[in-house]
Amino acid sequence: MTNSPLTTITAKPAPEETQSCWSCGTMRAAHFCEACGKVQPPAPVDYFTFFELPRKLNLDVVALAKDFYELSRKLHPDLNARAGSQEQEWSLQQSSLLNDAHRTLKDPIKRTEYLLKLEGVELEEQSKSATEQARSTGQVKKQIVPPDLLEEVFDLNLQLEELRMHKKMGEDDPALIEEIGRHKLELEEKHEALLDELQAYWKTWDELIQREQNGQPVSELERRQARDKMVDLLNRRNYIRNLVRDVGEALDE
Ligand SMILES: [Zn+2]
Repeated sequence: MTNSPLTTITAKPAPEETQSCWSCGTMRAAHFCEACGKVQPPAPVDYFTFFELPRKLNLDVVALAKDFYELSRKLHPDLNARAGSQEQEWSLQQSSLLNDAHRTLKDPIKRTEYLLKLEGVELEEQSKSATEQARSTGQVKKQIVPPDLLEEVFDLNLQLEELRMHKKMGEDDPALIEEIGRHKLELEEKHEALLDELQAYWKTWDELIQREQNGQPVSELERRQARDKMVDLLNRRNYIRNLVRDVGEALDE
């Protein structure tokens, strides 16, 4: 063998590639056999690995969709009357994994959140269900106001309080409603702009992954810094999204 240690590392096959087909003994693809077409037992892999992708955040969604449709066809439980067999069960499992993986990876926010989860990061619980639970139990929701929004949120809350008071008294205040509506629009624009900002961080992250693939060292500090920036941004984005929803509800009440 003339392989240098470096090429041995980068050319290491994924675990599923080392297995052979349960039916005919040859195996050319991860999820099904290219020789006989039989679906293979699902391997416990993450969504990136499922599509044989590196853990990078910039990804070609058109190529992803193409892979998705091709795999959908090949893994479909009804194909070749797989009914009743063990293979059909694997087909169902593989198809469900395929759908989840595609749904998660095609969406820029879901993709980033998923990657961060794989990296061991827990995002702040700011979901709608958490908000509703907090309301029903009367508990204060664990939510940190992003520092750059403190002032704005403070003003907005005062205005919302005023609005509720007016409504209770049966008074109409078109100027206040207009002011709040303007606030809401600004927040929606901010929410939109954060996606562009997030994509700038993807670049930083992907460069680290590329360096790793090239066999260059990447420190834990570098990884953490890249992760922290994305976490901070996603938390800020979720906060704004919830705020927009709350304002919308207050205006509709
Ligand atoms: Zn086979």
